[in-house]
Amino acid sequence: MKKNNTHIKPCQLTEEEMQNNELLDKISELSDRGQRTAWKRKQKNIEDLISSVEEIEDQLQTLQAKKLPLLDQVSSLRSEMVDTCIHPRELLVIHNNLIKCKFCEKVIRILNVEDK
Ligand SMILES: [Zn+2]
Repeated sequence: MKKNNTHIKPCQLTEEEMQNNELLDKISELSDRGQRTAWKRKQKNIEDLISSVEEIEDQLQTLQAKKLPLLDQVSSLRSEMVDTCIHPRELLVIHNNLIKCKFCEKVIRILNVEDK
């Protein structure tokens, strides 16, 4: 026979345990039935909301798993493009007498006074 410790019969309780139980019962009965029902309803609402949040978190994990390989591809393409950069006109800037490419961040050439 399986022993069940979660349901101790009242006769197995000590005098002190019974007094404590009565005290806790009294405290829990201070609010009226309506208040308790309303409160329990809110508790149930929270459980439902949390379970909805957990569902969304699962979906986010699935989406995250789809997103990561795409970001890896972007990163690998970008690094290929940096290595083979054509220094597009729209990404060239002159700053502190240096011509820089904003894409590959290379300094293309140093401006000479004669160039001006
Ligand atoms: Zn470049």
